[in-house]
Amino acid sequence: MTRSTLTHLECGKCGESYDADRLMNLCPACSRPLLARYDLAKAAQTLTKASLAEREPSLWRYEEVLPVRRDDACLKLGEGWTPLLHAPSLGAEIGCANTYIKDESLNPTGSFKARGLVMAVSRAYELGVKELAIPSAGNAAGAMAAYAAAAGLPAYVFMPSDVPMTFRVECKLLGAQVTLVDGLITDCGVKVKEGVQKHGWFDVSTLKEPYRLEGKKTMGYEVAEQMGWRLPDVIIYPTGGGTGLIGMWKAFAEMEQMGLIDAKRPRMVSVQSTGCAPMVRAFEEETEHAELWKGAKTVADGLRVPAAVGDFLILNAIRRSGGTAIAVPDEEMLTHARTMGMRTGIFPAPEGAACLAAQIRLLKSGWIKKDESVVLFNTGTGLKYAHLWA
Ligand SMILES: *Cc1c(COP(=O)(O)O)cnc(C)c1O
Repeated sequence: MTRSTLTHLECGKCGESYDADRLMNLCPACSRPLLARYDLAKAAQTLTKASLAEREPSLWRYEEVLPVRRDDACLKLGEGWTPLLHAPSLGAEIGCANTYIKDESLNPTGSFKARGLVMAVSRAYELGVKELAIPSAGNAAGAMAAYAAAAGLPAYVFMPSDVPMTFRVECKLLGAQVTLVDGLITDCGVKVKEGVQKHGWFDVSTLKEPYRLEGKKTMGYEVAEQMGWRLPDVIIYPTGGGTGLIGMWKAFAEMEQMGLIDAKRPRMVSVQSTGCAPMVRAFEEETEHAELWKGAKTVADGLRVPAAVGDFLILNAIRRSGGTAIAVPDEEMLTHARTMGMRTGIFPAPEGAACLAAQIRLLKSGWIKKDESVVLFNTGTGLKYAHLWA
């Protein structure tokens, strides 16, 4: 058995509690995301700064606050514990010396989607799921296919027919059944729903089951641990469904309760594309939920999310942290991918480059001061998007 201290699931909207050892998707009462809750007092007895120093270099080092209970259900491909790199040369160029990049491109399948999917698939496997399905326009599908292969479970992937070849080929090679759909990601979602009803597939769409969030929150634990348990002034995060941002915000609260960090929080910045910026619009209009973005268009596949079920959780984290939301044009992502590449040696996904574009704008406007510490998330490798610069 792992040291998981998982106790129950709680709705992020209405607060209703549910048994954690039953397979769940959204809250049956209000159709919003369910959050995993732990016995943090118990977790704090063994999850200590000293004990962590001895643990494996993967996200499984935080097992007390992860949901998987059986060792044999923990699927492991080397996910997490990615480097947090200080980028002095990049920092000098943009006028912000304390610039750091959390390089998520080193995860299995080349993106941080591995963090979420390892947890969703491990837990689904543990709870007896037989077949998995996902609608995806990018990295999530590859990550799901990889962990489904590791678990020996059949996987069904529905992708828009214009998805770049690399994403499609990756899923097929990893053994997933790929169906191309003429339409958008939302149309793919409809297909998955049909399969859920007809064949009993388990839907691992983001925030539609509770555990992808748990995998993604480990980025918050890692940033804290890698910075000596003092969080940076600013975190810039490329936001699609927002799972990573919501997850990190949850991780900070858990860490404070366990006595690992104090009450100081980074200002959380959501970056989106000007071609699809529902969170930026909602932030500016000061609404609780975000309206669907019509005609979503961006080369950053991870940011082409016109509506997010966790919108209220994203907006809440940004606001409570004193953060902001900002949209950048695709051209700036493509340009600043080169800047990052030449100054750091990291070939970022356009989503990662969007963080740098946002940082440059926020430095110019004075919202970020030049002596502040800033962590950018390079959420994936640029290699899968090489066609954009070819
Ligand atoms: C999915 C994805 C994102 C967006 O992540 P969310 O947590 O869903 O907001 C950003 N970058 C890349 C490379 C992605 O694949």
